Amino acid sequence: MSERHLLVLDAGTTSTRAMLYASDGARIAMAQADITQFYPWPGWVEQDAAEIWDQTLDCARQMVAQAGGADRIAAIGITNQRETVVAWSRRTGAPLARAIVWQDRRTADVCDRLREAGHESLIQQRTGLIIDPYFSATKMRWLIDHVPAVAEAGSDLALGTVESWLMWKLSGGLHVSDASNASRTQLMALDGAAWDGALCALFGVPLPALPEIVDNAGRFGATLPDLMGGAIALCCLAGDQQAATIGQGCLAPGAVKATLGTGAFILAPTGDALPRSTHRLLGTVLCQIGGQRHYALEGSVFVAGSLIQWLRDRLSLIATAVDTDAIARSVPDNGGVFLLPALSGLGAPHWRPEATGRITGLTHGTGRAHIVRAALESIAHQVHDLAIAFAADGASWHGLRIDGGMSANDWIAQDMADMLDLPVERPADVETTARGAAMLAGVGAGLFPTLEAATILAPGRVRFDPMMSPAIRTQRLAGWRALLGAGAAT
Ligand code: ADP
Repeated sequence: MSERHLLVLDAGTTSTRAMLYASDGARIAMAQADITQFYPWPGWVEQDAAEIWDQTLDCARQMVAQAGGADRIAAIGITNQRETVVAWSRRTGAPLARAIVWQDRRTADVCDRLREAGHESLIQQRTGLIIDPYFSATKMRWLIDHVPAVAEAGSDLALGTVESWLMWKLSGGLHVSDASNASRTQLMALDGAAWDGALCALFGVPLPALPEIVDNAGRFGATLPDLMGGAIALCCLAGDQQAATIGQGCLAPGAVKATLGTGAFILAPTGDALPRSTHRLLGTVLCQIGGQRHYALEGSVFVAGSLIQWLRDRLSLIATAVDTDAIARSVPDNGGVFLLPALSGLGAPHWRPEATGRITGLTHGTGRAHIVRAALESIAHQVHDLAIAFAADGASWHGLRIDGGMSANDWIAQDMADMLDLPVERPADVETTARGAAMLAGVGAGLFPTLEAATILAPGRVRFDPMMSPAIRTQRLAGWRALLGAGAAT
């Protein structure tokens, strides 16, 4: 039989993509389509679930054609933007409202009330998550409270996150979610196999509207034959950050990955031990295979690549993101300049939404390059703060694997190795999210016996070893700490 490929559908926040992998891990082709973002009110972010489906199907069809037909594809894997909520009709398969996107803050007041009513410690204990509009539960309740079509749907109502929605459409009515996505809803206990009745009652989400929670890899069903010229096995569902962790080969405790995109998401597997943070990190399901659950600790930094966009678009200090590497190298050091990138508050581990950014240490000698360099240095400093929080939670790092658009910057990669005093590795192909989904789909389809075996799909890596003297590192850390104290106090 001719070689069969793996097809990954990566439904991201700003675009949806389909990628075709050969069984040796080589990426053969990719199709991509943008997703329209709707901002009806300040703090609200919506998407059209029908568009997500249409664009995903269109991209998938292009890849099936490239592969030479549906029978050339061994399995489909789905990975997705997490926490975003879709409500649809079981009868018609059509959305009942716009999808509420993970960044949407409309339920902030509901979250305040839950916190004031003293529910935070129970929720954190059970779900590993803090109370925040970021997560799905309050978004689901909002739809029921504010959209008549959702409120009146009764038993016709189906709720789910994006992987659930795509599975329904691809399979023609299979209503499932996976443990990694379910762990971001605030409706599943970290160690619970199914939805938690008490949490559903607390948030006011009807259990019958929710999907069944399944593994991340397995034979869940097949695509409707008419969609792509033949039925294709549906073998993986996974949240994007969990998929990226797997795609980086970070499967066991001690490994850690940082995805440096618009923001930065850092996940460290904790094995089958339940992650319990006392330092404001999140506990999350990394993956579940054969009913066996593996967990991770997660820290998110709100501002990473968006700082570079700010330097370019608001300050006009740089022409392109790529230029920052050469500009940082054009000066021997930061010239005493430090930059706190709290442009939308500070995320983990500080969680200070009220903090604002600042630049300190300016003199007549300060030039553009010093400010750009201080901005790049702030990325390693933020990651270093998380390294300390992870260590305090018992998950010390021994190295860091990076990916995402910003990881292409060699200067940042080296600075991170220097500040963490750890080796930093970057894969040759930084599309780790899709690769992780391909690995899971390969396991689900039976091409690999385990995820460890599927790591042969992983590409080679470039390594950055620490080279900074301890004296300079100490000086940098002292400068950052002084800045952080001042910024956090505002
Ligand atoms: P996302 O998936 O969040 O949309 P990406 O992983 O595509 O983000 O990364 C894009 C971000 O990375 C942008 O914010 C951009 O400013 C930043 N970026 C891209 N290339 C570089 C570079 N060479 N140096 C620094 N930052 C970069």
